[in-house]
Amino acid sequence: MYYDYSEAGIFRAEIREVRPWAGRETGTQAILLDKTIFYPEGGGQSADRGTINGVPLLDVQEVDGDILHLAAGDGTGLAPGPAELVLDVRRRRDFTIHHTGQHLLSGTILRITGKPTLSMRLGEEFCTIDVDTPDLGEDVLVAVEEAVMDAIEADCPVIFHFCPPEDITRFPLRKRPPQDEEQIRVVEIQGHDFSPCCGTHCASTGAIGILRILGTEKYKGMTRLSFIAGRRCLRDSRLLRRNGEISSQALKVPVMETGKGVLALLEKTGRLERELKALEEAAAEFKAQALLEKTGSGRDSGPLAEIFPGTGIDEILRIGRAAQKKTGALLVLASETDLKFAAFCSQKGIDIRPLIKDAMEKQGGKGGGGPGFFQGLFESPEALSAFMAAVRAAAGTGEDRP
Ligand SMILES: [Zn+2]
Repeated sequence: MYYDYSEAGIFRAEIREVRPWAGRETGTQAILLDKTIFYPEGGGQSADRGTINGVPLLDVQEVDGDILHLAAGDGTGLAPGPAELVLDVRRRRDFTIHHTGQHLLSGTILRITGKPTLSMRLGEEFCTIDVDTPDLGEDVLVAVEEAVMDAIEADCPVIFHFCPPEDITRFPLRKRPPQDEEQIRVVEIQGHDFSPCCGTHCASTGAIGILRILGTEKYKGMTRLSFIAGRRCLRDSRLLRRNGEISSQALKVPVMETGKGVLALLEKTGRLERELKALEEAAAEFKAQALLEKTGSGRDSGPLAEIFPGTGIDEILRIGRAAQKKTGALLVLASETDLKFAAFCSQKGIDIRPLIKDAMEKQGGKGGGGPGFFQGLFESPEALSAFMAAVRAAAGTGEDRP
């Protein structure tokens, strides 16, 4: 009965059998009815949802000719006898609209481009079809959407034919019919499409309301096209409009020009980032020079260990890199804020690791690096200070923070 469900969505039937179902988590029951309004998963369409005697359905599957209504339950309400079936009508209508929309969309693409649809999926969020072509241009997609909309507005009837396989050639089918059926169900969208299909479909194309192609992607040499129809378009439009308004207010541009506004903003941000980087490098250069002058470190002078109280490690790294170009001495620069340090030595043939690693580990610090560059981290300011003092002592300089 699932092809002719009533919009009220309530139906009376008889429970014939309830059996435990092992295919799911334990406690799942499979219910067999004398007749049903619940569509079992098939033909790319998900199964219906709803309740039987108030017990919610988890799934509906057709197994060896039986339609199994799967429900979680302790058996309450699920004994052989009279049953009240309540269909989730909204969900069914949503899938029916998308399924009919898919026929119309695939038929229209075939007519406009000559390319057939090879597979389809009706998802909870959006639906997809795979079209047998590596590419569908933007102009083609717009033409397809417009043609689909024409057919929706024309409210073309959807007609169901039942035909034995031997007579099937009298229908100009868009795709190959199944081979093992006694009767093939042919779904005709008058003037647009003939397709063998077992899913649920609208009575006419007007019920689809609207269909939107969301986008395309390349998939195994085909083009996978995603789309939504009906009420999902309304929700989509509402969400886009809401986001557009937020962007419009933030960017101070009309809502339809937010794309342009975002690109202009990104360009400006990129320019500012480049300018900032140049300024930071220049500042680091200046600070490195000041540091070397203050401590009297020249190209061949002794090591230098300096704690910066209010400077983050990123800036310290820039200062260190700049200072390293001016001296071959060992430089150990630390950030009191981040409790991190960086050690540099640009002199070839010198490995700073034994000295730095030993002093660091004695204070419980962690870090790593190579012969000429080493970074580390401590858990307390005291550990960092002790490490710096040890580096100074080991390197033979008693000079403290100026
Ligand atoms: Zn169908």
